[in-house]
Parts: sequence; structure tokens; C-alpha cells
Amino acid sequence: TPAPATNFLRNIIEADLAAGRYADKRWAGQPGPAAVQEGAPLDPARIRTRFPPEPNGYLHIGHAKSIALNFGLARDYDGVCHMRLDDTNPEKEEQRYVDGIVDAVKWLGYDWKGFGTDHYYHASDYFDVMYQAAEALIDAGLAYVDQQSPDEMRASRGTLTEPGVDSIWRARHADESRTLLREMREGKHPDGSMALRAKIDMASPNMNMRDPVLYRIRHAVHHRTGDKWCIYPMYTFAHPIEDALEGITHSICTLEFEDQRPFYDWLLDNLAKLGLLLRPLPRQHEFARLKLTYIVTSKRKLRQLVADGHVDGWDDPRLPTIVGLRRRGFTPESIQLLCERTGASKSDSWIDYSLLDQALREDLDPKTDRAVAVLRPVKLVITNYPEGQTEVCSAPRNPHDPDAGRREFPFSRELWIEADDFVETPPKGFFRLFPGNMVRLKYGYVVKCTGCTKDADGNVIEVQAEYLPDTRSGTPGADSVKVKGTITWLSITAAVAAEIRLYDRLFTDPHPDAGGKDFIACLNPNSVEVIRGFVEPGTDATAGKAYQFERYGYFVADRETSTPDAPIFNRTATLKDSWVK
Ligand code: ATP
Ligand code: MG
Ligand code: MG
Repeated sequence: TPAPATNFLRNIIEADLAAGRYADKRWAGQPGPAAVQEGAPLDPARIRTRFPPEPNGYLHIGHAKSIALNFGLARDYDGVCHMRLDDTNPEKEEQRYVDGIVDAVKWLGYDWKGFGTDHYYHASDYFDVMYQAAEALIDAGLAYVDQQSPDEMRASRGTLTEPGVDSIWRARHADESRTLLREMREGKHPDGSMALRAKIDMASPNMNMRDPVLYRIRHAVHHRTGDKWCIYPMYTFAHPIEDALEGITHSICTLEFEDQRPFYDWLLDNLAKLGLLLRPLPRQHEFARLKLTYIVTSKRKLRQLVADGHVDGWDDPRLPTIVGLRRRGFTPESIQLLCERTGASKSDSWIDYSLLDQALREDLDPKTDRAVAVLRPVKLVITNYPEGQTEVCSAPRNPHDPDAGRREFPFSRELWIEADDFVETPPKGFFRLFPGNMVRLKYGYVVKCTGCTKDADGNVIEVQAEYLPDTRSGTPGADSVKVKGTITWLSITAAVAAEIRLYDRLFTDPHPDAGGKDFIACLNPNSVEVIRGFVEPGTDATAGKAYQFERYGYFVADRETSTPDAPIFNRTATLKDSWVK
């Protein structure tokens, strides 16, 4: 594999390594407060990154980008990437989401083992340390309990052009704030009645520095800590502490957190001065999120699609969730390839969905078996071929891989062909079957069309042809007759009936997620067509098995419903090049 393209994050890491910025970092074998880390051995990992999803939904292709970046950087620079469940928001989080996230990251091909340790963490494991940090900030005059209502706090925050106004509680004595914080923790106050805020600068041009809230009261049961806590740390307070406790060196996040970086640094620097954290401290770096056309990734919108039945659950093959992509037939390698190709950048841009299809083709083309499928069958009768006779035809399993060998299937008097490979009156440039024309049956004989039979409504129900006996593919006479068209076929006696689900994009609009659009109105009414066709005998319909069906693209046996006896195939992506007529 070629060396990954360089990007600004790699440049930052390389500069940090060259400067020895993290050379003296301590690692105690597990995350913990400074006291544990003092005297610990030097960190064997040259860098530490982390993937910190909130367990409030299923992961999607955007998360895959963050996963590929964080785990990929750790791998490339002899580091470790921590798997961290950022579970500081009890109302929306559930164990089933935790399980789904862990499965998705593993399926994508990553693990969090490093230097003899399983680096799997929960933010809720640090609640005690976070609380200790909150009291330390109060004692240092850097935080206070504010008794304004949430509305009053919002109103007094000011705007981008107007400075904020100090709360009347800002000047209260540290002892009073500490007592109130303890009462908050003990459950003596209702939700929203007070909050702990940092004391920074209500006139800061950065709104995030105007005394951000650190802790709020939530009488809610947490999926891991139960009812131990009724105050919960805000993301902006919790996240830097989580990073520092875990010895993260490079905390990589998306661009919308850029304005939070001054607070990230303010908080960690102060906690280090107070002796609660060890230096060197982590640093935050922002990159542009992955924005793919024709999808939505907001959890709220995905949830709505599922809840309102626009799709068939979180793993619907049309969704950009990891479970949906997997069921559609995308491979971990194809998703990694997309993430690699789109790099890491500092500026937002749209990535066309077709790049994902292209990555899939590149992954599957060299390694996937071919097979014939007839999607919309009509019968072709070879009138000069004896009834009851069959002979074996063969084709390469994979034209790129001679070692894969050949597959065999019978030729017989009655065949299935694609209905639109025959027309009675051909338009200009049509080289397939019409009365009087000759085509090659791929891997079989050249046949000459002699006519067709129609039902009372004029629909073609059978096509007739005669074969030219000396023209079988792979025999010396194969090229004696030149034809312009080649079509695929299956012997009726051997073809295997299959359900085939032709998936298309879920939205007709390239940007359903943008600019306050009604994304439901952008749904593609034809995002799936379910048809009954036939596949080549010997096709393995075991759940998850992928094929390239000749002419049609990449398909996968549906992992929820397909069985060897009742094949169901999902179309993952079409072939780039359309079938040569
Ligand atoms: P949503 O906005 O859909 O609720 P989120 O961004 O809040 O998702 P988290 O669980 O907090 O979801 O995300 C975990 C990590 O994945 C974060 O570091 C976040 O920045 C990253 N991430 C989420 N979406 C994208 C994306 N489209 N591109 C790159 N990284 C992303
Ligand atoms: Mg989030
Ligand atoms: Mg988000």
C-alpha cells in the first residue's frame, strides 16, 4: 500500500515529535489523576489520539472519517488511539448504542489495544475527578455557582457585538459556591435552579469565554453510574479533562469546535497549575467534517427517517449508518479508502457520493467472483437445439485472478435472457436481438434471431433463435462469425430464482441536509425496486457474500434475510462503465 498522503495533521504531529513535545509524558498504565501518574514510567506511545462518540445513536459515514483519521494517525506514528464513550449526557444515552458503536469500529477494522492495554474508556469513569476539578476551580476563584435561571443566563451573555453582563452571583465567596455545589451534588436543588460557571470574562470577543457553564443539575439516571449523580459536567468542561487524564497528545475534532479551543487551553492550563493534571497537556486540532452529497448524517434526521418508516430500521441499506452501509454491501476497505482519499483539510467542501461507489468498485473488482444474473427475464428458445440436451459452458471466476479458476453452467434449448435484449423493430445502433440479427450468447454460441411470440396484449412472452453449431466460445470456430452484440443468459433448467433489491440514492437532492430544507420532501420515491430474477447456478447466497453480476455491478447477499436456499441480493453499486452494446 502506498504511503498515506501528507496532510496538516501529519505535519503537526511530525513537528511535535521532532520537537520532543511529548517525550517526557508519563503513563501510569491507566488514566487517572496526576497523583497516580507522578513517578510513572515514560509513555511508550509516541502519540495518543482518541475517538470519542457520544452513545446516543448509531455511527455513520461521518464518524468513519473521524475513526479512520484517529486510528490511522496512531497506527502510522507508533501511537495508540483510545476508544472512549463520551457518556456525560444521561438522558439520551443507552447501552445498545454503546454496543453498536463498539461493533461498528471493530467492523471498520480498528482496535484499541496498545502496549499491553485495552484502551477502552468511559467519560463517566472520570466523574469523581471532574467534580474534584470543579471544587479546585472554585477554591482558586476561577468558578462560581450562578443562581440565574437558564433564560437569564442566556440573556446576559450578550451578542457578538455586545459584551455580556456579569451575574450578580459572580462575586460571591468561594466558600458559598463550594457549599452550593455540594448541595447540588447531594440533590438539594431542582434542575435548572443553579449551575456552576467558569469565571473568565463576560466581555470576551469569544462567546465561549463568557463564563461557560461547567456543571448543571439533571436528576436523571445514567446508563452506567445509575443515580449516583444528579449533576453532570458540560461537554466543554468534560472533554478536555478526559483527554488530559488519558494522556491524549492530539485531540482531533471537527471545525465547529475551533471557537472552543481557547477554553480547552484555559481549563487544562489552570488545572495543571492547580496540580490536578500533569504536563505536557493535550492540544486540540480541528479538521473539516466529511460532507457527502445525497445523504443526511444528523442523528435527529436519521432518527426521524427510521421512526416515521421512510426506511426499514437503522440498518436499512439506503442509510449512511455503518450498519446500513455494511448491509448494502460496502466493505471496511472501501470506506477506509474513501476516508483516506478525502484526506484531512481545514476547509469545508462537498464530496460526491460517487466517490464511495468508486472506492467500492476498486476494492471489489480484483477480489470478487463474477456471476450472471438475469434481472427481468424473458424466455429464449433455441429451436434447432435438441430438447433434453445440455452441455457445459465455462467462464473465469475472476478475470483478474487466473488462480480463482473457472465456473461452469449448462447451455440448453430454453434460456432466460434479459427482456430488453430483444426488440421487434430495432432503433438505430441496437445490436442485440431482433429478427434476422445475430448475437453472441456470452460464453456460449452465436445465435440468429428468428422471431417472437406475443400475448393478447402484445407483450413479448418468448423469443426464438437458431444457434450456429461451430461458434461456441473457446472453440476454434468461435470467431468464424463476426457479431456486434453480446448478451448474458441462463439455462432455464439450472437458473436459481432470486429476489434482487435494486437500491438507489435515498434522496434526489444532492444537499438534503443543507440550508433548512425540508429533507423529507427530498426523498427519492424510487430509492428501491424489488424484483424477482435469476442468478447463475452455484451462486452462493450465504448472507454477506459479494458478487459482481456481469453487466449490473456489485451485489451482496442480504445479511439479514438471504439464505442459500432463498437468495436475496442487494445492489451495492452499479458498474462504472455501462454495458457495451
Ligand atoms: P451528530 O451531530 O450526528 O449528533 P456528533 O458529531 O455529535 O453527531 P459524536 O458522537 O459526538 O457525534 O461524534 C464522535 C466523533 O465523530 C466526534 O469527534 C465528531 O467530531 C466526529 N464526527 C461526527 N460527524 C463527523 C463527520 N461528518 N466528519 C468527521 N467527523 C465527524
Ligand atoms: Mg456530539
Ligand atoms: Mg454533530
